[in-house]
Amino acid sequence: MKKMMVCFLLMIVQQLSAQSSLQKMEAVNFSKVNITDHFWKPKIDKVVKVTIPVCIYQTEIKTPRIRNFQKVARKKGEKHEGRYYDDSDVFKALEAMAYALQNGKDTALENKIDEWVDIIAAAQLPDGYLDTYFTLNDVSKRWTDIEKHEDYCAGHLIEAAVAYYNVSGKRKLLDVAIRVANNIDSTFRLQNRYWISGHEEIELALVKLYQVTNNDRYLKLADWYLQQRGHGYDNGKGWGTPAYWQDIMPVKEQTKITGHAVRAMYLYTGAADVAVQTGDAGYVNAMKKVWEDVVYKNMYVTGGIGSAGTNEGFSVDYDLPNEQAYCETCASVGMVLWNQRMNLMTGESKYMDVLERVLYNGALDGLSLSGDRFFYDNPLASTGEHQRAEWFGTACCPANIARLVTSLGNYIYARSYNSIYVNLFVGSNTIIPFEKNKVSIITETNYPWDGDVKIKVDPITKANFNVALRVPDWVNGEPVPGDLYRFADKRSVPVVIKVNGKEQSFTMQNGYAVISRTWEHGDVIEYSMPMNVNKIISKDSVQFNRDRIALQRGPLVYCVEGKDNASNAFNFIVPDKTNFKTEPYKILNEPVTALTATVPVIDVANSGTSVQTENKIITAIPYYTWCNRGSNQMQVWLPTKIKEVKLNY
Ligand SMILES: [Zn+2]
Repeated sequence: MKKMMVCFLLMIVQQLSAQSSLQKMEAVNFSKVNITDHFWKPKIDKVVKVTIPVCIYQTEIKTPRIRNFQKVARKKGEKHEGRYYDDSDVFKALEAMAYALQNGKDTALENKIDEWVDIIAAAQLPDGYLDTYFTLNDVSKRWTDIEKHEDYCAGHLIEAAVAYYNVSGKRKLLDVAIRVANNIDSTFRLQNRYWISGHEEIELALVKLYQVTNNDRYLKLADWYLQQRGHGYDNGKGWGTPAYWQDIMPVKEQTKITGHAVRAMYLYTGAADVAVQTGDAGYVNAMKKVWEDVVYKNMYVTGGIGSAGTNEGFSVDYDLPNEQAYCETCASVGMVLWNQRMNLMTGESKYMDVLERVLYNGALDGLSLSGDRFFYDNPLASTGEHQRAEWFGTACCPANIARLVTSLGNYIYARSYNSIYVNLFVGSNTIIPFEKNKVSIITETNYPWDGDVKIKVDPITKANFNVALRVPDWVNGEPVPGDLYRFADKRSVPVVIKVNGKEQSFTMQNGYAVISRTWEHGDVIEYSMPMNVNKIISKDSVQFNRDRIALQRGPLVYCVEGKDNASNAFNFIVPDKTNFKTEPYKILNEPVTALTATVPVIDVANSGTSVQTENKIITAIPYYTWCNRGSNQMQVWLPTKIKEVKLNY
């Protein structure tokens, strides 16, 4: 434990000394945050008790992922089984397992990690190369095809190694990762051999390795990877175009989002990480433009991105079909990663608003309430053919959502030299070192079901500093920046902040309500964000949402599912003046707030030439809870006019 603390403190010192002026704030690391939240704690527990065991079972028993590593170590000429990127699933599961240890002591889990670490270490070649696909099949072919994910897998190995080192202080896997990174650095950067990564990921991982080792070789390699882009590499197979892997132009000149959504998110996350460490504003300026292109023209109301299944990515602007929405779970995880980096760099809350939108909707939807079923794609409408799966042939999503949920603590608090930021409203406690002081923060809330948050601010020594509370976009009557979505009734209802029971004045800075005062033992903030049911309308350019509305309350986007509505989610309209009420509700064992309204429901059986309607109650549920009670109809964008109703399902 002592060693862990030393490691952690060393990391903080290293990070603070290395940060450039591009970093406006620093996130409080998950390993310092204890989550007690009504909403998230049961989900984290579910991931630890159910999802991670599923990942372990699938990885080492049901599929050959772990066996491939064992085959390398046996050196008996056995061939690789499965897909060439399967190693990455082992590493991502390991990363989630490492984060899970933060949830409480778990000797069996830690032993399993150590067992896997030994198996992985035994598969590393003497020169540091580690990739079971090429090592088992033909090692002479290594590094000959940029699409074969060697550096993508290496990136996930590095991330797992850093995570496990941070929580346990054990460095065997970290040493494996260091040898892998050294091998790649010697093979490419030091020889200036042309290469791009066909699936970005290693860039952000190398910055993590730099932060934990303080060896700038890894930062240089991350920057080198970024600088390679822009040569327009095409693999000649029809799908591997420069746009697909963001290689049309140099990263610093990019303004438009293109291609594969997960690749793009990991690239821009890595570019932000490099920019913060090197102070290279060129990356930041490019990413601000690309971000606007994503959020203003190419993002679903759930925060999901990558509408097209053909390239698992972006199509043309405003092409956001609902039933065909691809919205891969991993792309939503990537949006969380990238938006956090943008928030930390700029200090602007709009990035955290988008992060919250995707976290509570597009990403969380990827995990079943039971914890053992998954969505790869997350559509916004279904005629009943979508079903959650136990696992996938390409199994990137399950461990990705597992590592996101178990690392939630990374996204709640941040700090700068004179401010503590509350970014997400999650019941939790932490101690934030602050100059020579330490400030204990305890947050209690029933968010996202209501907007009241109580925060105890308790410095060891009485001190003057700022506490900055994010004022979410939905409070301000704007669902997202830009004009892609807006609330039908723009209602900007002011937040109320009290300290020790008395109303407290504050200033608005970059989307945060900033309270500046002298804080002392026993101070309590009561933050009240009025939560209304908001109807969202979409820009007319999105043809699929014309004459339709979506529902949002707090950060949650809602949908209508057949299960709550006599098996039909398509037989009604929601006229303009419809008034929705809130109602306590349950989806399986998940207590939620449902929305109900009385609307014209079409008599499907008797609808002939003239459409008959009858007023009935419809129930809408949070989008993340859909398809947990079997497959059935669902839609997020609800028609306001009869002509938009489809009855032929
Ligand atoms: Zn995925």
